Amino acid sequence: MRLVLLGPPGVGKGTEAGLLSQRLNLDHISTGDMLRNEVKEKTPLGRQAEGVMSKGKLLPDALIMAMVRKRLSQGEANRGFILDGIPRTIVQAEELEDILREMDRPLDFVIDLVAREDVLISRLSGRRVCPKCQALYHIINMPSKREGLCDRCGGELYQRVDDQVETIRHRLKIYQDETSGLKDFYKKKGMLLTINAEGEVEETFVKIKSSLLPKYDCPSL
Ligand code: AMP
Repeated sequence: MRLVLLGPPGVGKGTEAGLLSQRLNLDHISTGDMLRNEVKEKTPLGRQAEGVMSKGKLLPDALIMAMVRKRLSQGEANRGFILDGIPRTIVQAEELEDILREMDRPLDFVIDLVAREDVLISRLSGRRVCPKCQALYHIINMPSKREGLCDRCGGELYQRVDDQVETIRHRLKIYQDETSGLKDFYKKKGMLLTINAEGEVEETFVKIKSSLLPKYDCPSL
């Protein structure tokens, strides 16, 4: 199964993509994680991305698409995937379609996760991330057992610079301005599945599964 997960920052895209990839054995391709890794490794791309990301702005389409094309070509050809954080613009969606057509791996569905703005702001401003293993926590909804430390690897949890309230508002606005057109793009193609993601992680996962089930004959669903 080849999926795109759409949704504003804080809607739980990364978490749900992680669950889908584990339970359905899909390759999880997150452009945000790829870019944060480039920043950490101080590569030329990372240096270019850092300032743009900390302002919550989008990187140029050409740069993102070159990175994604390379990543898709490195995946196992017959394994399904889940794209998280891409596409973010119509230009990216069109180019992605071309890349996947060339690879003969077209998308099956686009899952659109939705939640109200106040829910998103509360989730994002409380989010903490492990720099070593990328595990996600929330200071209220999902705190680590030892405050400030990762349960999995003991890494020192931090708040992403783009998870501060003012930047969050800016990111939500950018999402609305630049990304909302994508819903129509995929709706017209009959690929869009809209899921309310205000509940718990597992609850949203069950909703995603139930929306895919009647459309896709997959034994692990
Ligand atoms: P995310 O983790 O998906 O919220 O992405 C973090 C940041 O990486 C975004 O705010 C953008 O600066 C950048 N980014 C990630 N994916 C894309 C994309 N598809 N197009 C442009 N910029 C992106």
